[in-house]
Amino acid sequence: MSSKRMLTLLSVFLTWCAIGWISSTFILERSGLVILIPKFYKFRFVTILIGVVLLVLSTTFFVISRFLKEEEKQVSKYIRCKVCGRKIPFDMVICPYCFSDIRERKNELSDED
Ligand SMILES: [Zn+2]
Repeated sequence: MSSKRMLTLLSVFLTWCAIGWISSTFILERSGLVILIPKFYKFRFVTILIGVVLLVLSTTFFVISRFLKEEEKQVSKYIRCKVCGRKIPFDMVICPYCFSDIRERKNELSDED
């Protein structure tokens, strides 16, 4: 698994944790179990604070994962040969599979993924 995908999954996981974490205090409040917890409002403040920290963390991971994606794209840039349809490195001049000249086709092909 690539580090980009791992970071994306981590950010999604943290977002779910934060949402669950914050909503749990409200569920707790509605269920009436609040009586069991002394100083509930202070407790909820801390809980929401932790939830916000989790959200900030997940956003950071998400931004980093986006950044990694762009970096990866630059490293592995491929174009598709129009004659044989295979993926070939961007800096190739002649297709290594069908030996067709791809220099003049490069500009129109580079937009494709
Ligand atoms: Zn080819």
